[in-house]
Amino acid sequence: MNSPYMGKFRVTQAFTLTKHDGLDLVGVDSKEIHATVSGTVHYAGWENPNDHSQGFGQYVCIKSGNRYYYYGHMSELRVATGQTVKCTDVIGIEGSTGKSTGSHCHYEIRTEFRKNSPVNVVDVCGVSGIPNVVGGVYDDGYRPGTSAPAKATKQVTLTIDDHTYSGLLTEQ
Ligand SMILES: [Zn+2]
Repeated sequence: MNSPYMGKFRVTQAFTLTKHDGLDLVGVDSKEIHATVSGTVHYAGWENPNDHSQGFGQYVCIKSGNRYYYYGHMSELRVATGQTVKCTDVIGIEGSTGKSTGSHCHYEIRTEFRKNSPVNVVDVCGVSGIPNVVGGVYDDGYRPGTSAPAKATKQVTLTIDDHTYSGLLTEQ
């Protein structure tokens, strides 16, 4: 599993492709948002600088390979357009900017920067390993202060309805 968080987080809205083309995640241990891939910051800023209530609000888009990784609704940005980032770098702070009713990170992956849903939208759960299940508390195994290996392999624990699962998953 490779999430934008370190430590525990929740899934508050599932990925449905057509109705909701990303995952909504809420940090439990920390509100810091971490890059889930190494790449280049394709864009960091407001979706609409003249209307902060629109769309993803303040967001970061990282290009890695032929994919674009979106982290929406942030309260603070910690990177700038054009900057190089590596997996696990802090890129911003979870927030509720844009079209949002509460603090969360909308995590989405596309094959093109411009949206043409659902054609360009990738299955974020399949790529990240985050279960498409609302209500569980997940833990991607990373902790602040630990350095990430080049190809991240994470110890994962997952708790749903009193069942705890654990295992190793590798960054894709
Ligand atoms: Zn969302």
